[in-house]
Amino acid sequence: MKKITVYCELNLKNYTMLPVSYELISKAVELSRQAFELKKEQYSVEAVALGSNLDEDSLKKALNAGANRVVLVKNKTLSAFSQTIFAQSFIEYYLKNKSEVILFPATPYGRILAPRITTILNTGLVADCTGLDFILKNDELKLAPTRPTFGSELMATILSKKFPQCATVRPNTFVANFGLNADGQYCEFEPCEYSETRVKLLRTMLEKNTTDVNFDNAKVVLAAGFGLSEGKDKKYYLRLEELAKKINAKLACTRKVADFDLLPREFQIGQTGSNVVADVYIAFGISGAIQHVSGMKNSKTIIAINTDENADIFKYSDYKITADAKKIIDEMLEILS
Ligand SMILES: Cc1cc2nc3c(=O)[nH]c(=O)nc-3n(C[C@H](O)[C@H](O)[C@H](O)COP(=O)(O)OP(=O)(O)OC[C@H]3O[C@@H](n4cnc5c(N)ncnc54)[C@H](O)[C@@H]3O)c2cc1C
Repeated sequence: MKKITVYCELNLKNYTMLPVSYELISKAVELSRQAFELKKEQYSVEAVALGSNLDEDSLKKALNAGANRVVLVKNKTLSAFSQTIFAQSFIEYYLKNKSEVILFPATPYGRILAPRITTILNTGLVADCTGLDFILKNDELKLAPTRPTFGSELMATILSKKFPQCATVRPNTFVANFGLNADGQYCEFEPCEYSETRVKLLRTMLEKNTTDVNFDNAKVVLAAGFGLSEGKDKKYYLRLEELAKKINAKLACTRKVADFDLLPREFQIGQTGSNVVADVYIAFGISGAIQHVSGMKNSKTIIAINTDENADIFKYSDYKITADAKKIIDEMLEILS
């Protein structure tokens, strides 16, 4: 049977899979259905994690998301991240368990590993895909990843001439679905104990002065656009932050807001920022540029407040409020005070 491999990144402190792993497994399950519909070909989904252990709950979730097999590539050299050791260990496993497609997460580590692995495998890589489908080309099933190009003015679909066909996908691009089949298998593979030749890891430490912003599992997101600006005065960004704290929501912003130093870059949503799939996404004074929309359009309910009734953001919104967003922030804070 043909196969789709999903590289599942582990948090090496507690051996849990990053949530993007389940999103990619769910997408791979969807691709396997497509393969059957288009060409009656059976594809299995294999989730491969590297580390010295795997959290039991993560294993259950990977199986529930539809992985037919979860593999832990395991030995003690994989307890801390090293790009060479991780790449070599993955490749050793892969060469004994080849597949047609490999999906990698576009996380900081995924972005380091995917190009290294695909270069060694002498194949191509489509980075930061926003869509993944199978298509039939000359009666052959091909992976057709889509990604923005030319400053996001166009969407390009890029087919690989070589196998395996590989792609990276940013977190929150696809939605994880659980409750499919939990009767997949689990197995372990022990690679050689490779040693790092060039870089020696002495210790790991948390970077200072960074804002810990994580949009995974965000329920309500309040997103600030440039429409809240008053020159260099950050008043309405601070007021929105206050509102977010009061209702236990996450604060986010557009790139223009970060460019003008009105909020830290880590809050930026969109093509060059984070992706978010929130239950409720409220856009305050955001125009709706495609580079921003690509990072939030999968949110379940989108509410936009803009003074311009023709603003593009309204095309993507479930609720459209033509009003001054600053006044709405003031009123909401007053109600909650
Ligand atoms: C390669 C590339 C990558 C990019 N990546 C990203 C990305 O990841 N994320 C991102 O966000 N952008 C990205 N951008 C920038 C993007 O194109 C837009 O410039 C940006 O999103 C605009 O931000 P904005 O909507 O806050 O500001 P503006 O475009 O200036 O819009 C402000 C909006 O606020 C409204 N407004 C004004 N006053 C009020 C008020 N009082 N109340 C309510 N509404 C009001 C206006 O009508 C307007 O619609 C990228 C651009 C490029 C070229």
